[in-house]
Amino acid sequence: MSTKRDYYEVLGVDRNADAGAIKRAYRKKAIQYHPDKNPDDPTAAEKFREATEAYEVLKDPQKREQYDRFGHSMGEGGFAGAGGFQAGDFGLDDALESFLRNFGMGGGFADFFGGGRSDGAGGRRRGRDLQLNLKVSLREAAHGAQKTVKINKQVPCTECGGTGSAAGSAPQTCPQCRGQGRVRQVRQSLLGQMVTEGVCPRCQGTGNIVTNPCRSCRGTGTVRGEETLTIKVPAGVSTGNYMELQGKGDAGGPGAPAGNLRVVFEVTGDDIFERHGDDLLLDVPVSPIDLMLGTKVEVPTLDGKVALKIPAGTQSHKVFRMRGKGMPHVNRPGSGDQLVRVIAWTPRKLDRDLKRRLEALRDDLKPLIPEPGTRLYD
Ligand SMILES: [Zn+2]
Ligand SMILES: [Zn+2]
Repeated sequence: MSTKRDYYEVLGVDRNADAGAIKRAYRKKAIQYHPDKNPDDPTAAEKFREATEAYEVLKDPQKREQYDRFGHSMGEGGFAGAGGFQAGDFGLDDALESFLRNFGMGGGFADFFGGGRSDGAGGRRRGRDLQLNLKVSLREAAHGAQKTVKINKQVPCTECGGTGSAAGSAPQTCPQCRGQGRVRQVRQSLLGQMVTEGVCPRCQGTGNIVTNPCRSCRGTGTVRGEETLTIKVPAGVSTGNYMELQGKGDAGGPGAPAGNLRVVFEVTGDDIFERHGDDLLLDVPVSPIDLMLGTKVEVPTLDGKVALKIPAGTQSHKVFRMRGKGMPHVNRPGSGDQLVRVIAWTPRKLDRDLKRRLEALRDDLKPLIPEPGTRLYD
């Protein structure tokens, strides 16, 4: 028998909790056990997955009803099919919820009800999920951006209005479910014979069968086309962050919903800033004399130039931290830092006069420099 914890218990809600309460409870758990926030707790990922699984079932009225009636024992086959959970790829708080959709149930429940099969040429199925890799510059990632993209995908057939039936003909009532879209199934389980109602495998729950297919889409209800989308890039995204746009994937067959579009961000490198998480590193060349005497330099940041004071006696390669001048955090308020590394820069060409003056300094400076082998930094 199942050793799974009760889903209501997992989310800490009572059995009468409404959809809003379940969603809030899940969000809280997801944030609490987010693997990114618990790098040292190996059980966090499992708790996160457990909460996600519970949510996937309880948020869906149909699955929740099944679960309420039969508990885990009934759904085991379906639930066990859940996969696709990967730690490490999260981040966008806004999109958190939609991300999590992917980590949970997949199509487990639909398979359980025998809905995974396509009905021949009709293909009356949910549209495919699509993925779009979207390149954004560091500066676009820093400030957030709107990108307009064109994607090739299945769109509803205009010839038949997405019904799949040729003009003048109408789909016929599905003989298997007599138009109900659902059929009763009898199943043997440890608890004895159980009768469940599920999606009709013949018509995929639409209740109709296309008998005179549209010639343009061959009865599928969809054709190849393109759609222009404006995608909002959240400020602070990193390469690998993604968001899921519901219903923006391939159009579904007659009566079936569209798939989702997953937008995966790729943040390209920048000419001057080197990104380390949400911190940005910038090298600033300074003359050795400025390091000895101290100075002030203007350094570029994402939001224009900022003055940085370099105290007298600063060694080359010292890193100054400018708080809050880095990339915005994508899933919480605030920003990373800008790290400024000062580099003692040696001019390659010296004119005769400058060279003579430096030579005069050389002997005076020599005794002030540590012997080779001295430990320079603590
Ligand atoms: Zn058509
Ligand atoms: Zn049917």
